[in-house]
Amino acid sequence: MNAVRPAAPQLADIEPYDPKYIPADIMISANENSLDVPLDIRRQIEHEVRRVPFNRYPDPLANDLRDMIAEANGLDRDQVIMGNGGDELLFDLALAWGGPGRTFLNLPPTFSVYKNNAQLTNTAIVDIPRCDDFSIDEDAVLERLAKGDIDYAIVTSPNNPTGDLAQATFVEEMLKTSDTLVMVDEAYFEFSRYTVRPLLDSYENLVILRTFSKAFSMAGVRMGYLLGNPRVIDEFKKVRQPYSVDAVSQAVARIVYQNRAKFEKSIDAIIAERGRVYEALGKLPGVMAYPSESNYILIRFDEDVDAGWIWQWLLERGILVRDFSRSSYLENCLRVSIGTEDENTRFLETLRDVLAQVGVAV
Ligand SMILES: *Cc1c(COP(=O)(O)O)cnc(C)c1O
Repeated sequence: MNAVRPAAPQLADIEPYDPKYIPADIMISANENSLDVPLDIRRQIEHEVRRVPFNRYPDPLANDLRDMIAEANGLDRDQVIMGNGGDELLFDLALAWGGPGRTFLNLPPTFSVYKNNAQLTNTAIVDIPRCDDFSIDEDAVLERLAKGDIDYAIVTSPNNPTGDLAQATFVEEMLKTSDTLVMVDEAYFEFSRYTVRPLLDSYENLVILRTFSKAFSMAGVRMGYLLGNPRVIDEFKKVRQPYSVDAVSQAVARIVYQNRAKFEKSIDAIIAERGRVYEALGKLPGVMAYPSESNYILIRFDEDVDAGWIWQWLLERGILVRDFSRSSYLENCLRVSIGTEDENTRFLETLRDVLAQVGVAV
């Protein structure tokens, strides 16, 4: 038998994405909505899916969905494109604006997928690390952009995993002072209730990423979209997989989007719970919680407390949170998604117990 020759060299340093998803009683590690799509909407979905012809290729661009989303955002169909989750569109961004000899500006700590996509496409990465409080080092970013060699940049707002919003004035400054394609990743904008959508009318170099995975309880179905100017959207059309958005997902997403007003109550509940959890964390000794505009909170533990150990302790009690303690810039940090009131309460009680256990006075 012959050995297989090596894969492309840029794969050598890449770790396959691992969400560290371990079944647990309380799953608050992946920023999903703890509540599934409401039953009355699920019934409508079943009806819609029954009408899908499985033997026919789907509408490649999902134009029904593009029209609905365009209308809701005051745009035209040619300013919207759908993807197999936001993740596909992030990959498409690297394919279309990255590549050998091209450069991506990253603002770590942030979503790790951006960096992987740049590496996969042989795109050079320029990191402008965030400040100590995780706010964007705006002057450093604008200074770097001014050199004129950045092909695309991603600004995550709210940022994952730190939870903070980017300032619209800063995003506008990026757009105004460069021709870099700036993606604002608004995967969590339903929880911040804030969007840079108005800037689309004035700047051709802005593109906005959204997803059905978080506020709309659809992480399992895979549906994301971009809002952008027609010239930008046209380039995405060239690199996307023709049928990446399948007919069943299109049917599910149509019904969910038509019913999106029904998700408002659960979004409000998550926002209220976020406030309660943040306040409770603030009263615990040995931990520092970062303010969040999203559906998760980043927590940093004091040096004498080992976050990795806390993560394990929580898991043994049926609570899965996300361990970032060995990630750059996020030493000794865990991220907890905001779940239902009961889930959050159990998390807080268990965390209080473990802190008492390790001798931090509670
Ligand atoms: C979850 C997430 C996405 C998109 O997720 P999909 O499930 O692929 O739609 C994009 N960006 C960030 C920052 C996210 O956290």
